[in-house]
Amino acid sequence: MLRVPDVGSTIMVHGTAEQKAEFLLPMVRGESRWCQGYSEPGSGSDLASLQTRAIRDGDDFVVNGQKIWTSGAHLANMIFMLVRTDPEAPKHRGITYLLSPMNVPGIEVRPLVQMSDARGFNETFFEDVRIPVKNAVGEINRGWYVGATHLDFERSSIGSAVGQRKMLDTLKAYLLKERDSKSGKTRLGQVDAPRLEFVDRYIEATVAKTLSQRVISMQARGLIPNYEASMTKVFSTEFNQRIARTSTKLLGLYGGLRDQKSDHTPMGGRWATMYLSSVSSTIAGGTSEIQRNVIATRGLGLPRG
Ligand SMILES: Cc1cc2nc3c(=O)[nH]c(=O)nc-3n(C[C@H](O)[C@H](O)[C@H](O)COP(=O)(O)OP(=O)(O)OC[C@H]3O[C@@H](n4cnc5c(N)ncnc54)[C@H](O)[C@@H]3O)c2cc1C
Repeated sequence: MLRVPDVGSTIMVHGTAEQKAEFLLPMVRGESRWCQGYSEPGSGSDLASLQTRAIRDGDDFVVNGQKIWTSGAHLANMIFMLVRTDPEAPKHRGITYLLSPMNVPGIEVRPLVQMSDARGFNETFFEDVRIPVKNAVGEINRGWYVGATHLDFERSSIGSAVGQRKMLDTLKAYLLKERDSKSGKTRLGQVDAPRLEFVDRYIEATVAKTLSQRVISMQARGLIPNYEASMTKVFSTEFNQRIARTSTKLLGLYGGLRDQKSDHTPMGGRWATMYLSSVSSTIAGGTSEIQRNVIATRGLGLPRG
């Protein structure tokens, strides 16, 4: 929720000096917790069709509409959002990228419960919410391009590879300690398909790291990764799902348990939880199909379908 890599980077690229002073310092101090107001009930992959309306009134925009899937909105004290400021313009042109505190009058957050029992999502409603015009990042009506920069940073997933390698190391250590009560063997000591799968996950962890390093080296040179970020995002999120599948296979039937109070639940049930939660990672931040479209057109230069 600190969102230094995506909101922070977007403000650094498109923000004014005043916006940098106002928003970046609280971010790096860990004082601001951000949520993302992009998706709407009728606008997901086709994000440019968004309808949340912002009408200028003096020094403010007055915002009305609804966002959905706003992760962490119930915990956030700030929101970055895309709003329609010119309904007459072609759909990509009449959009503005706005920043707002969450505690202003007219914002209502309602929870949505996930299949993993987590309560991370929300619907967020805006009724006559006043947001200062000075909180628009980049040009008014050109926010689509600011929002796209944001997504490029969001999809970069540069920290994921480190976490994924660590997960595999933790699982390996656990499996090497656990011994079958009858055979006395460790689960990884048996030469069979799940062990070979585990080796594949290690190879993929190295690929994930290399993809991340490419994105990191671009960012370090001041470049904004685009299809490169989409490649990292597709690989990293689909890799998460493969890690979850392999881990639950290696842990056997107990691997499906999530009851943290039970002695039979391996490692606090984290793998079963990951099995459920990783499903959504190929949807969040733009689906794998959309990332593949980006790679096809901007990476490979293929014609639009
Ligand atoms: C865990 C999670 C967290 C999220 N957090 C947030 C958040 O904090 N803020 C926020 O604004 N949104 C958030 N979202 C929403 C997310 O950005 C959208 O779910 C996503 O962009 C897809 O939109 P949609 O669900 O409307 O699906 P749709 O756009 O309706 O897509 C349905 C299916 O059609 C496919 N499809 C659509 N268009 C094309 C195309 N042109 N080519 C090929 N296939 C296509 C999609 O890939 C998908 O399989 C989150 C989603 C998840 C799962």
